[in-house]
Amino acid sequence: MKFKMKSKLFLFPILTALLLAILPVIDYAESEEYIIAEEHIYPIEIKNVGGIQYVSLQRITDILNSRLIYDEDKNSYTYKFENRQATLAPGKSLISVEGRLEFISQKTIQDDDDILVPVEFLTKIIPLIHKQPVQYNVASRAYVYGDAADPYNLTVNTLPKPTFLRLIIQAKNSIPFKVSRDNKEITVVFSKKIILLPFSEKKFADDIIESVSFSQQRDSTEMQINLRAEPRDVKSYQFKDPFRLVIDFMRIAPTESAETPTGDPARANDYSGAPNWLESNDVKTIVIDPGHGGTNEGAIGVNGLKEKDVTLQIAQNLKGIIEQNIAGVKVVLTRTSDIDASIQARTEIANHNKADLFVSIHCNGSVNRNARGAEVFILSGEASDDATRVVAELENQADGSSAQSSAQARVPHSPLTPILWELAQNEYLRESALLAEQMQAELNQLLDTSERGVKQAPFKILTGAIMPAVLVEVAFITNPKEENDLRNEVYQAAIAKAIYRSILRFQSMREQKNSTGFNTNDEDQ
Ligand SMILES: [Zn+2]
Repeated sequence: MKFKMKSKLFLFPILTALLLAILPVIDYAESEEYIIAEEHIYPIEIKNVGGIQYVSLQRITDILNSRLIYDEDKNSYTYKFENRQATLAPGKSLISVEGRLEFISQKTIQDDDDILVPVEFLTKIIPLIHKQPVQYNVASRAYVYGDAADPYNLTVNTLPKPTFLRLIIQAKNSIPFKVSRDNKEITVVFSKKIILLPFSEKKFADDIIESVSFSQQRDSTEMQINLRAEPRDVKSYQFKDPFRLVIDFMRIAPTESAETPTGDPARANDYSGAPNWLESNDVKTIVIDPGHGGTNEGAIGVNGLKEKDVTLQIAQNLKGIIEQNIAGVKVVLTRTSDIDASIQARTEIANHNKADLFVSIHCNGSVNRNARGAEVFILSGEASDDATRVVAELENQADGSSAQSSAQARVPHSPLTPILWELAQNEYLRESALLAEQMQAELNQLLDTSERGVKQAPFKILTGAIMPAVLVEVAFITNPKEENDLRNEVYQAAIAKAIYRSILRFQSMREQKNSTGFNTNDEDQ
């Protein structure tokens, strides 16, 4: 009994090997993969012969507009594309490419009128004949022919945080898109057909996102995000270089009061929870906002100096210094002449220009003529003290459309943002604070006000800015000495230089942080 079993086991592999040798084509299992060429998807049958994946050379020929010629006398096939060719024979692993011999790891197989080649042929031989790269994409199970097949290289990643879940869709080139929401379903329609998808469907273990799936339409691509639970809020941002669509799903906070995004003074100085990995290391665009303008004159000194004129002069000065000293940085002013501009329009200029920094320049005013020095502010829901509240109220009045609540503000082409407009700056508070601290320190040194620190107040100009943003009151125009100083071009230049130095300090501190643990590329699992 035992002996018999042994002999059977012994014979089995030999029989299998014999069968494979005699009738190799019968024994294959088929599966479907794809060739992606010229932005089309072509299914190909993959035939598994003895663990080796084969594909029909005739099918490749049809897809890639090449020719396959059988030479009966020599029992060989010639694969031709343009003026180049490869010659191969059934049962051989040697292929003549333009007269040079190339090996593929497995032998070709005759299959009726066709010849089967190992899939390796696609990545090894086709590039030699077509002068085009061919790469295998695991997620799409596709052989990608040429460069043009994948202009986007779309990736989807998540970044889970205690207070929110961030979904990051990144692509090599920008893709126009529209976002819509229907309760627990969020649909992003990309108005381009994305040929190579990162996946067709992916399930998430997160308590907010259940799954993300893609479907290709004729000329567009739809991404469907199915939510497991209704998030407290949803907001989306777009970034360039590289293109990123970022969607934040705010979690329901365990203790609602501690998580109120604006308006909780207890949280006012805690920037630690704000993610700031989104920014690239380099500051490329700075938007400077000269406060007030036109009919809105701002504060006026006892000797008649107007805030709107000083802010424009300092802003222009600052623009000159930055552009002279930092190569490749673009500086945009929200106004370059004495015109009216709404607060919302100014923030939108910063957002529209994808500014990396936003600096709103003002001059302080006080009934106390002795009040002096510079004050740098970042946003919060509540003012840090009464004096600060007054400053914010005064500056907020500057808006021509001050009756409009900030919640009504609209960011064009960004359907999710209206509800979340008010929270936009919250994401950047930590970096805003870092910039403000540097600026306050530089100005303290210049103005000899060593004790002064950064303050927070509900400035409307900062509310909708989706980048680090500060408002600086460079001096008190209502203080006769400072009014006199502010009139002086040398003094204006000194203030501009101090602000410029603070930007440099901010940049170098951010670089240090980025090199010690800031994660800019979190992969989800
Ligand atoms: Zn002002």
